[in-house]
Amino acid sequence: MTLRAVIGDGRMRAASLMAVIAVLALSAVGLAEAQTSEHARIVAALRTGNTYVSPIAFSATTAQQVRADAAELLKQGEKVKLAAVQSTGGLEIFAYAAQLRSALKYSGTLVVTTPHGTVGAAGSRSELSVQNALLAVGADRVVDPAARLLIAAQVSTPPPSDTGTGIRDLVLLVGLALLGGAFAIGWGLRREEHRARDRVMELRGILKVYVDALGARAVVLATRANQTTAARALVEAVHAYHVAALALVDHGLTEPELAEGAASVRGGLYDAERAGGLLGVELPAADPFADLCVVDPAHGPRVHDGEDGPLCADCAEQLEAGQELVPRRVLVAGQPVSYRDAPVPYGVTTPPGASAARVRH
Ligand SMILES: [Zn+2]
Repeated sequence: MTLRAVIGDGRMRAASLMAVIAVLALSAVGLAEAQTSEHARIVAALRTGNTYVSPIAFSATTAQQVRADAAELLKQGEKVKLAAVQSTGGLEIFAYAAQLRSALKYSGTLVVTTPHGTVGAAGSRSELSVQNALLAVGADRVVDPAARLLIAAQVSTPPPSDTGTGIRDLVLLVGLALLGGAFAIGWGLRREEHRARDRVMELRGILKVYVDALGARAVVLATRANQTTAARALVEAVHAYHVAALALVDHGLTEPELAEGAASVRGGLYDAERAGGLLGVELPAADPFADLCVVDPAHGPRVHDGEDGPLCADCAEQLEAGQELVPRRVLVAGQPVSYRDAPVPYGVTTPPGASAARVRH
């Protein structure tokens, strides 16, 4: 083999290698370009407006809803932009939101979601506090992408300067958790109306424990055998009262609506006491939590005796495993307390005949 031949061969190899590199580079450029152009579209859309919804990954209805929600947030004075993107290009969603926010040089809160259900936000609040808030409301479990963005926006925007105690966050968390899908809460309310809304949310949270206690009693009664016609009628009434109370309390947005729910709870508790009398089970209406799991009456009747009171099977098992049992929390004047320490709402334990004074807190 001559020297010339070696050089020639080497040149040949170099040439084919160059070709391969060129092809690789071109496809890399193609990929990057596709991502860059989506990124450019997102940045452009968020620079001129408050929303971006990927037309490939989301429906036109979602886009419309997101735009309407952003307009509503703007009307409420919230500085927030909403983005539903196809992908975060491999970035963790909070990191992506932070990167996008700095690319936009945006001082407000930017909320981002993907078709996979992940949702994150970046704004003036710390990433950890926003992450905790989103976790607490279960934002990533909300199936509808527009609703997901809206809930995330609600809990990740900073509290208004006139409160600044973090109470708003707590109330929102509890309220949203109680309402489940009723993310529409508070829409259209002005800031000065927040206080009234917060109060309704607190009352609802407290009342809900009594509704659950009534539900547990309805189950206890329904499983009792040897029911006479009279007992059966009462048991059915308790069930009906519980269903009505559940609907009224879950959907109640005003104090009068909650008062109606409370009236159903009271009626149900007293019918349960009478039915219990006929069936040989003590269900005192004046003490609606008696003999129900002390951790949360919603857990159902006593299965074991704990140090602090009756326990359901699950709680007894957790205690056995060395886990700490934390009683159900409700908000009273913005502070989370055990449900047992909350004032009785709307006098639900007062006999129906007596003048049911509304107990305020
Ligand atoms: Zn329990």
